[in-house]
Amino acid sequence: MNNKSYTYKKRRPNTNSKRNKPARAAIDVNQYINEGKAQATPEAYVNQYTFADFGLDNSLEALIAEKGYKNPSEVQDKAIKPIMEGRDLIGIAGTGTGKTAAFLIPIIQMLLENRQENLALVIAPTRELANQIQDEFKSLTHRLRLYSTCLIGGTSVGESIRNLKRQNHLIIGTPGRLQDMANQKALDYSKFNILVLDEFDRMLDMGFSKEVEKINQQMTNKEQSLLFSATLDPSQKNLVNKIVRNPVTVQSEHSTHTSDAIDQKVIQSNGKDKFTLVKDLLSEPGNNKTILFCETKRHADRMVKKLLRDEFSADAIHGNKTQRQREKALNRFKTGRINVLVATDVVARGIDVENVELVINYQAPMNYADYIHRIGRTGRAGKVGRAVTLID
Ligand code: AMP
Repeated sequence: MNNKSYTYKKRRPNTNSKRNKPARAAIDVNQYINEGKAQATPEAYVNQYTFADFGLDNSLEALIAEKGYKNPSEVQDKAIKPIMEGRDLIGIAGTGTGKTAAFLIPIIQMLLENRQENLALVIAPTRELANQIQDEFKSLTHRLRLYSTCLIGGTSVGESIRNLKRQNHLIIGTPGRLQDMANQKALDYSKFNILVLDEFDRMLDMGFSKEVEKINQQMTNKEQSLLFSATLDPSQKNLVNKIVRNPVTVQSEHSTHTSDAIDQKVIQSNGKDKFTLVKDLLSEPGNNKTILFCETKRHADRMVKKLLRDEFSADAIHGNKTQRQREKALNRFKTGRINVLVATDVVARGIDVENVELVINYQAPMNYADYIHRIGRTGRAGKVGRAVTLID
């Protein structure tokens, strides 16, 4: 990232003393402005390796090329070799850095060398992220006869159990459903050799540290642990040390799409009705795919109702929706049947939709990390995106 004011800020505690209210006022909104400076080709990371240097199976290399990945992203450049050498790894890399392929590529390579069932278990904090990881796995193993199962809440328990009885090389899951399967003896952690923890910081934020610790303890045949996190604060050190042994730590400052490719601005409502501002933005030509962030699930639902009443095509995606509803909304958005997806932060992590032109923050997010995650939904694939934050 070029602009100094965009360096990653240390995670702020989300609460203040009395009322458990977010510490919103502490954020300098100037962080959300870079109007007119966005560029689709940010300063590139200088790679040490090409994909050809990793000695990957030809079919895997072809699938990587098919996905349009020309060169390894920074985290892939730094992590693929040590993972292939069997080292434990801590990857300080947020969403948008290519971290998913950074752990999947070496795992798939290992599977192509030795088709071992239940080689790796990937734990992700949210259902969307888990689905996203499975999608990436499927596209990187197309026709290679390598199989995965995704275990997430909001789906049929019976189906999860049935899927676990089939041949699986990789299991991906959220902590709750994984533990549910283990309690029902449908899943045996001791069968896996590799543990991947994705978005570890978010997992702890969501209160899953006990589950993670338990799963780690029960992986009695674990040989390798890979932990990815946007930030790691010292208070997490204890748990981290229980999981990884003599790890290589790699840090990724470059995204596959950076916020330099996003035109960011703040609009002050100055008493004007914010909803009118939203409608004005949505009516601008060229905004066919917009993600609108609201703070609460209720607010998101209300927003959709109001938008539909004004004949915008919109749907909401948040934690109170069933898995099926979430997938349906995401699909309708991907395929252009709706133009506006109204979302809350938790589910935002997994949203990877091409050609999102605009991200609107109805309110400034709680912290800078959330802001980066939100706006990272736009400005992808070499295109300039736009992010607008509305403040009172
Ligand atoms: P992730 O950080 O894993 O969520 O990946 C973010 C986005 O980057 C996804 O849309 C990936 O498809 C894309 N991506 C991953 N690796 C590369 C690469 N080497 N080159 C270009 N795009 C990539």
